[in-house]
Amino acid sequence: MSTNVRRFRDDTVNQLSPIGANTRKLLIESASGESRAGFGVRRVLSGDGAGSVAVLAATPLSATRSSAVSVPSRAAPSALARTDRESQPPTRITSDAVARQRAGADAGLQTMGNRKFTKNTSPVPTHKLRLAPAPTSTQLATHMPRYVRPDSRTSALAALAEHGAVALGGGTDLLVTIKEHLAHPEQLVDVRHLPGAREVTLRDDGSARLGAAVRIADIAAHPELQGRFAALTQAARLVGTPALRSMGTIAGSLVQRPRCWYFRRGIACFKNGADGCPAIIGENQYHAVFGDGPCHAVHPSDPAVALSALEATVEIVGHANTHRSVAIGQFFDGAAQNPLGEAALAAGELIEAIEIPARSAGGRQRYVKLMQRGAWDFALVSLAAARRTDGEVRLVLGGVAAAPFRLNQSVEEDVQSGGLDEDSLDALAERALYDARPLSKNGYKVKQARSLLRDAMRWLAAGDP
Ligand SMILES: Cc1cc2nc3c(=O)[nH]c(=O)nc-3n(C[C@H](O)[C@H](O)[C@H](O)COP(=O)(O)OP(=O)(O)OC[C@H]3O[C@@H](n4cnc5c(N)ncnc54)[C@H](O)[C@@H]3O)c2cc1C
Ligand code: SF4
Repeated sequence: MSTNVRRFRDDTVNQLSPIGANTRKLLIESASGESRAGFGVRRVLSGDGAGSVAVLAATPLSATRSSAVSVPSRAAPSALARTDRESQPPTRITSDAVARQRAGADAGLQTMGNRKFTKNTSPVPTHKLRLAPAPTSTQLATHMPRYVRPDSRTSALAALAEHGAVALGGGTDLLVTIKEHLAHPEQLVDVRHLPGAREVTLRDDGSARLGAAVRIADIAAHPELQGRFAALTQAARLVGTPALRSMGTIAGSLVQRPRCWYFRRGIACFKNGADGCPAIIGENQYHAVFGDGPCHAVHPSDPAVALSALEATVEIVGHANTHRSVAIGQFFDGAAQNPLGEAALAAGELIEAIEIPARSAGGRQRYVKLMQRGAWDFALVSLAAARRTDGEVRLVLGGVAAAPFRLNQSVEEDVQSGGLDEDSLDALAERALYDARPLSKNGYKVKQARSLLRDAMRWLAAGDP
């Protein structure tokens, strides 16, 4: 990704479509007359309209000014410095841009094989992009939350029972959401030093227990875990960067917030207390192809997809040391409907551990992830595939829905039966993706999922249990 910072005047920058308060897709003409399309941040420095623009991933355009703007790297928004969004007026998409987006959506009927997908028909939101409600003065005052570091479960639960308290793992997501005014906790309860929080326990029967604060890097490098639960260790190795894996914990990975750039850049939407979802007619390249919303962001965690294929359970403790085990599939129930969080955790509850059952150990398993970049990127589409030693098959897609998306059981059973030729693989992939309803710009995900599924099903069907 190239980044250039240039001086500009308004008459040399042609805004095509606003993405957030300070981010724009831009069509820029340099002094030499060359045109470039890019995704960048614009910051006005003086009242006469002069300012600077950081252009990310700008690509030269041909002479035609109407050429399509290149798809921005998803990392671009998080790499941008922010200005005080309260000082920005609500942003309005030009009627031209709306017309283009609607035309894109109408042309968005996707085909796969000989089947035609209908575009997602969720209600189209207003064409105005508004900023999320500004933080209240109390929230700003509590912007520096208290930090506590309990060393027992009881003291951790007591600290979490206090008003505005949340659990803190490695902080790689929580601290960012605080900084971006997406979360306003009053107390951070560091749960990494609780007894057993960082332990991986491997039992003789083949099952395993991961303490909630086990780091992603420790999972990725654990030789015995690799032997038993290869899908999980492969997924862990594909998370972000070495630095992130060294800080991020397994519980934090499950509870991290979605990466939708509207949400993350403070644009009003369902997830931050407003109505509607601007992604439906906006920049929805990385959004869900399954589910009816109201939120169309995808679940971001790679380990969650692998843990779903391994049928893990999440061990949760709450007030007065109550304990409950929640199947990971149910842990994400209602993720698209809940504006406050995607996980089934009540206020004051704490994930204590993740249990992986013995029946999921061994067999054939793998995790594959398609990314826009070679590394340090979230999944466009990913797949955890497992054929257990008892022959049962589990196939779970990531990057396509608000939660890890387990395939219809009848598809898994057909893979389990084996004897699949290329035509049957096509038919099975088609069936598996039958309910996909892509948005205007993410039909490619259905094709990617189909390709991953065909490969994995061929691999699973061919092997001995
Ligand atoms: C640049 C970047 C790239 C990334 N790339 C990827 C990627 O490719 N794949 C991927 O899967 N992830 C990726 N991530 C996300 C990263 O994996 C998560 O940020 C990380 O796993 C969160 O773990 P943490 O311990 O830092 O959580 P924190 O930031 O500390 O917490 C996150 C959430 O979990 C809650 N929480 C933490 N521990 C507990 C607990 N024990 N009980 C209850 N709630 C708890 C917190 O309250 C908070 O709501 C990326 C992140 C960044 C910043
Ligand atoms: S996809 Fe979800 S997070 Fe993104 S804008 Fe829509 S409602 Fe908000």
